[in-house]
Amino acid sequence: MKEVILIKFGELSLKGLNRSSFESVLVKNVRQAVKPLGEFEIKKSQSTMTVAPKDCSNMDSYAEAISRVFGIAALSRACVCPKDIDIICPTAAEYLQEQLEEVSTFKVETKRADKAFPLKSPEVSAQVGEYILDHFPHLTVDVHNPDVIVHVEIRDSSAYIHGRPLQGAGGLPVGTGGRAAIMISGGIDSPVAAWMMAKRGIELTAVHFASPPYTSERAERKVIDLLGKVADWAGVIKLFVVPFTEMQEAIRDKCPEELFTVIMRRYMIRIAQRIAESQGALALISGESLGQVASQTLSALCRTDSVAEMPVLRPLIGMDKEEIIRISRKIDTFELSILPFEDCCTVFTPKHPRTRPTAELIEEGEAPLKADGLDERLMDEAARNAVRHWIAPNRG
Ligand code: ATP
Ligand code: MG
Repeated sequence: MKEVILIKFGELSLKGLNRSSFESVLVKNVRQAVKPLGEFEIKKSQSTMTVAPKDCSNMDSYAEAISRVFGIAALSRACVCPKDIDIICPTAAEYLQEQLEEVSTFKVETKRADKAFPLKSPEVSAQVGEYILDHFPHLTVDVHNPDVIVHVEIRDSSAYIHGRPLQGAGGLPVGTGGRAAIMISGGIDSPVAAWMMAKRGIELTAVHFASPPYTSERAERKVIDLLGKVADWAGVIKLFVVPFTEMQEAIRDKCPEELFTVIMRRYMIRIAQRIAESQGALALISGESLGQVASQTLSALCRTDSVAEMPVLRPLIGMDKEEIIRISRKIDTFELSILPFEDCCTVFTPKHPRTRPTAELIEEGEAPLKADGLDERLMDEAARNAVRHWIAPNRG
């Protein structure tokens, strides 16, 4: 039996004038997602796309890859057959045999995109329904709350038959929302933040601060692996690993210990911003969640935001840890995130951090670093010496 994946677009069907450009981005993203699986053909008509693999023996891999493409509401494996009611009826019964045997009620829903087809939709549904009742005597029809809906779509070239659809990833196609730079650590939160913004159509660049020898190569590897999981949904991601040791040592040597954390975070923002700008990113993304730890109080966020010249998107800001963990399990980053490697944020942490430093106090604390343009030099060097990696989806 010839099978295809039928794809129903999500929110983008609401987007009016932008619709056609959204659709072409979605087609491109689906193409990228299934390319490693073999040869295929993609067709688009109305708000449906079909992906027809040449070899139908690994339809599940196709469905799985497509279920991670944002902008898709639902997808189904569907069987393709000629537009002839005498073929449609037995094909539907055979193709959906397993699903029909497991349940006790069903109904048939027909969509007729090809208005030249001689039977009207209700007539197709009635004939297919009758055929199924004849061949599965345990079944009854329930039009209100059926266990299974047998879908028949009569389109221009063929008829398509499918049963239960799979849920799509939702959201908007990556690439329709501009670019932003995710500040990625090896923790639980930032990969989830990256995924959430990709879901809203944002293309990602990633920035990670590493402080060797205080942080290890394994910690860096972990970040690369985490981004590989995110790339399964977000597409290829360019990562900048910024050498942050000298900056951190300078802060340790020149600034008051109690302000170390807030000053370090301000320099992270400043450097990330330079890289973001160089990549055409319009915003930064961070994994902060209000009140989660002492450095994520509203007043601490104000102190870091005040050095940002672009918006800092914080998609987790109002979420509980439980909710964040649920997403990290869904996107398969949780087990990696909890591996216990050090992050530059835990290097030189003060014994008694100042919980609510004023803006003036911080400015004063930063002053010795700014003397002779030392901080500018260090920031330039850090951004210039950042090591680039292209992170491809790992699909596994
Ligand atoms: P995460 O789980 O994402 O590490 P966290 O709860 O541990 O977050 P912090 O360590 O305070 O919180 O970091 C807050 C945010 O700062 C992170 O979500 C991330 O966006 C950014 N961040 C922290 N460490 C780094 C790093 N080494 N490189 C880049 N960004 C970082
Ligand atoms: Mg962390």
